[in-house]
Amino acid sequence: GPVKRTLESYYTTIEDFPAEGILFRDITSVLGDADGFKLAIDEMLKAIEGEAIDVIIGIEARGFMFAPVLAYELGKPFVPVRKAGKLPRETVSATCTLEYGEATIEMHADAFPPGSKVLIVDDLIATGGTAKATAQMVEELGGVVSSFLFVSELTYLNGRDLLEGYKVHSLVTF
Ligand code: IMP
Repeated sequence: GPVKRTLESYYTTIEDFPAEGILFRDITSVLGDADGFKLAIDEMLKAIEGEAIDVIIGIEARGFMFAPVLAYELGKPFVPVRKAGKLPRETVSATCTLEYGEATIEMHADAFPPGSKVLIVDDLIATGGTAKATAQMVEELGGVVSSFLFVSELTYLNGRDLLEGYKVHSLVTF
């Protein structure tokens, strides 16, 4: 039969993007291949199999490529975390220091009821700053982080250390 490709093999790597010295792992080549995208979704679903989840959060922008698909598959609501100033209703916010720069992110204050078990999804964990800030907002609203789910992880930036005490899934390590 046909040779089974790994999820990692669908990634492309770009040097010096978006800034000098950064090795950018490009998810668009995973999504741009029907088999690659299916493999990513299938592996994500498998990673969280059996977990109790009430709500699925996706982080702008590349978390939006995955979290809504999982929400649809699992029959759970999707909640977006966005860059400041984009969400129309009352929000909570958190500031994160990133691999390249700093950002304030927001989530709707009525995104889920207190006590909700929340899955946080993004395409990649680098320093973990974005993920940590998202967890802070979830907890501010009385939610419980069930786990984090990333398609890939830049292990040399030790993002997992910042998320100590949480369950963290990642499918591909760079
Ligand atoms: P962190 O907050 O430092 O963990 O950065 C994670 C965020 O930066 C995620 O939303 C990623 O989409 C983005 N990011 C950082 N480095 C890369 C990369 O090499 N490829 C794709 N996205 C990246």
